Amino acid sequence: MSGKLDKAYSMDESQRGQGDRVDQRSLGNGKHVRSQSPLKFFAEAKKSINDVFKDIADYVIESQKFLKELPESCQCADAKSVDEFGSMINGIIEVLTRDHMKVVFFGRTSNGKSTTINAMLRNKIMPSGIGHTTNCFIQVEGCESSDGFLLTEDSDQQKSIHDIKQLASALSKVKLKENSLIRILWPKQKCKFLREDVVFLDSPGIDVTPDLDDWIDKYCLDADVFVLVANAESTLMQTEKNFFHKVSSRLSKPNIFILQNRWDISVGEDDLEEIEQVKEQHYQRNVEFLADQLKVVDRQEAKNRIFFVSSKETLISRLHEDNKTPTPHGSLQKNYQERAFAFANFETAFEVCISKSAVRTKFEQHSQRGRNITSSLKSIMEETYQKSQKQGNKLQDVRGEKSSELDFLEKQTLLLTTEMKDKIKAMVEEVDRKVSYAMNMEINRLSVLVEEFDRPFHPDEMVLRVYKKELHAHVEEGIKINLTGRCTAQLVKAVQTVELHMCDRLSALLPDETKQNLDNVLPKSQFEIAYRLDCRNLCAEFQEDIQFRFSFGISALMGRFLGPKGMRTVLTGQGNTIPRPIPAQLQDNNQILVGVITTFASVSSRTTMGALIIGGMVAKVTGWRIIAVVGALYGLLYLYERMTWTNKAKERAFKKQYVDYVASKLKLIVDLTSANCSHQVQQELTSTFARLCNQVDISKQSLEEEINELDRAVSQLRDISSKGKTLRNKADYLDKNLDSFIQKFLGAF
Ligand code: GDP
Repeated sequence: MSGKLDKAYSMDESQRGQGDRVDQRSLGNGKHVRSQSPLKFFAEAKKSINDVFKDIADYVIESQKFLKELPESCQCADAKSVDEFGSMINGIIEVLTRDHMKVVFFGRTSNGKSTTINAMLRNKIMPSGIGHTTNCFIQVEGCESSDGFLLTEDSDQQKSIHDIKQLASALSKVKLKENSLIRILWPKQKCKFLREDVVFLDSPGIDVTPDLDDWIDKYCLDADVFVLVANAESTLMQTEKNFFHKVSSRLSKPNIFILQNRWDISVGEDDLEEIEQVKEQHYQRNVEFLADQLKVVDRQEAKNRIFFVSSKETLISRLHEDNKTPTPHGSLQKNYQERAFAFANFETAFEVCISKSAVRTKFEQHSQRGRNITSSLKSIMEETYQKSQKQGNKLQDVRGEKSSELDFLEKQTLLLTTEMKDKIKAMVEEVDRKVSYAMNMEINRLSVLVEEFDRPFHPDEMVLRVYKKELHAHVEEGIKINLTGRCTAQLVKAVQTVELHMCDRLSALLPDETKQNLDNVLPKSQFEIAYRLDCRNLCAEFQEDIQFRFSFGISALMGRFLGPKGMRTVLTGQGNTIPRPIPAQLQDNNQILVGVITTFASVSSRTTMGALIIGGMVAKVTGWRIIAVVGALYGLLYLYERMTWTNKAKERAFKKQYVDYVASKLKLIVDLTSANCSHQVQQELTSTFARLCNQVDISKQSLEEEINELDRAVSQLRDISSKGKTLRNKADYLDKNLDSFIQKFLGAF
C-alpha cells in the first residue's frame, strides 16, 4: 500500500489536476515522514504565547504587590485595574490551555463527512453508513489516556466508545437532545491531528436539521476551518450555501474547504472527457461560490480550496496500511492514487490553513489583549515612576531647605549665644555698679536712717538690747527699701528688656509654630532682686560706749593730741621710750601734789589723776591762785558736762557710734551685695536664655527628625522609582515579547 502511495506522491506535476498540487516536503521517501507538520506552528505558537502570558501573570502579581505597598503620593488612578488585569490574564491562560484547532464538517447526510473524519483520523471512530443519520454533533478530540471514551452533555460519566453508534443514531431509543454534543475522547498518540490539538466536529446532515443559526452560535463561532463535504454526483444545495452565507456573515472570512467526495464513483464512467467536464463544472461553481458569492478568498486561492477525493478509499487504504494488511481487491478504484494524492493535498492545505487560522483566531485576540494589558501596565509603572521621581525630588528639595534651615539655626544660635553672653556680662557689670553706688549712697545717709528711728532710748542694758534689735531691723528694712527704690525698678526693667530682646532675637530664628512657645518660656512673675543685708548678724558685735567722758579730761585731751594710740601708750606705760627720772628738787613739792592726786584718783579715773599730777606740777611753777581759778573753771566745766550728759545725749552718742559702726560694716559688704545682686541678674538672664535656647534645641531636634524622616522618605521613593522603572522596563520587555510573538506568528496575516 505504501508503494502505491509512493507512486502517487511521485507523479509528475502534469499528471495532477487542479487542486491536486502537493508540497514535495510533505511527501516522504516511501514513508509518512514530513519535514515538520504545519500543525506544529500552532503548538509552537501556543507554547510561546503561554510562556509570555505566564511571564505576564508573574509580572502582574509582582506589580500588584508593588502597587499595594505604594504610598498615597505615588499611587496612580489606574492602579486598581491591575487586579482586573490579573484575573484577565489568568482567564486568558486558562483559555489558552484549552485552546485548540477546530474543524467543522458540513454537508448533506451520507456525503461522507464521518468517513472523511475517519480517514483523517486513520481510524473508524465516527459511525457511518448509508441511512445512518444523526441529529447530534459529534466532536472528536484528543485525550492523554490510552483508551478512548465518550462524554455526553447530560452527564460527566465516561461511556464506552462502542455506544457511539447507538447514541448518535437518529433512530436510537436512547434519545439525546436535538443538536446536543457527543464528545469522543480519543487517545492522542493514535492520531497526529489529535496530538497537535485538532478537534473534529461532525454535524448532523445539513439537509436534516434546518436550525442553522443555533448551530452556528453553539458550535461554529470558534471554528478555524469549515470543510464542506459535497458529493461528486450533485452540485451544492441551497441549504449548504445558505449555511455558509450565514457563517460568513458571523465570522469574518471563514476558512472553507470543499471536498468533492465519492470521486471514485466517477471511475465507473467511461467518458473521461465528460468526467473532466463535470470536474471543471464543480470547480467553476465552487470557485464562484467561495470567491464571488461568499467572497472569502479570491478566485486563485479558491481553486486551492477544492479537492476531488474519495474518503472511503483513503480510509480503506490507510486502515490496511496501518494494519499492514493488503488492501482487498476491488476496494480501491482505478486511479486511486490521484484521489489519495488529492486527499493528502487537502490534508496539507488544511494543516497549513487551520494552524495559521487557529493561531490567528485563538491567539491574535489574546495577544492584542495581552498587549493592551502590558501597555496599560507600562503606563501605570511609568506614571508611578514619574510620580515617585517627582515626589522624591520634591522631598529632596524640602530636605535641602530643612538642612539649610538647621545649618542657619545652628550658626545663628552660636552667634546669638556669644552676643547674649556679652549682653549678660554688660548687664551684670551694670547691676554691680548700680548696686554698689546705691549701697554707698545708703551708707552715706545711714545717719538719717538711724535718726529716723524714734524708739525711746534708755541706757539700761536690757532695754538697750531690745532697742538695738529693733534698730537693726529698722536699718535693714530701711536700706532694703531704699535700695529697692534706687535700683530694683530700673534693674528689673533692664532685665525684662534684655529678656524680651533675647526672645525677639530667638523668635526670628524659630518657625511660627514654635514661636508661640517662647512666650511661655519667659518668666511669668516679675523678676525681683533680693538685697541680702543681715544687719543683726552684721552688727552683732556692736558695743556702744555711753559712759560719761569729760571732754577736757586728761585722757580725752591726750586722745585728742596724741590720738588714741599714743594716749594708750602713755597711760599704760608701755611706750617704747624709757621714762626719765624726776629731778631731786622737785621731789619734796611733789609730796603734797601726790596727796591731791591720790584724792582725785579715788574720785576720778586714772586719767583725771594724771591731769591733777600735771596740774600740780603746773601749780608749782605758776602759783596756787591761778591754779585755783583754773581748777574752779575746770570743775565748773566738768559739772556742766556732767549735767548735760542726759539720756538724749547718750542716745545721740549711741546713734553716732552705731552709724559709724554699721557704716564701716556695710562698707565691707558693698562688693558682696552688689556681686550678689549681679549674680541674681546673671542667673535670671542665663536661665531665661537657656530656656529660650531649649526651644531652639527643640526646633533643631524636630528639624533633625524631619530631615531623617525626609531621608527615609526620599530613600523609599528612590526605591519605588527604581522598582517602578524596572517594572516599566519589564512591561516593555513583555510588550516586546508579545510584539515578536505577533511578528512571528501573526505577522504573516
Ligand atoms: P455522512 O452522513 O455524511 O457522515 O456520510 P457517511 O460518512 O456516513 O457515509 C455515507 C455512506 O457513503 C457510507 O456508506 C460510506 O461508505 C459512503 N461513502 C463515504 N465516502 C465515500 C466515498 O468516497 N466513495 C464511496 N463510494 N462511498 C463513500
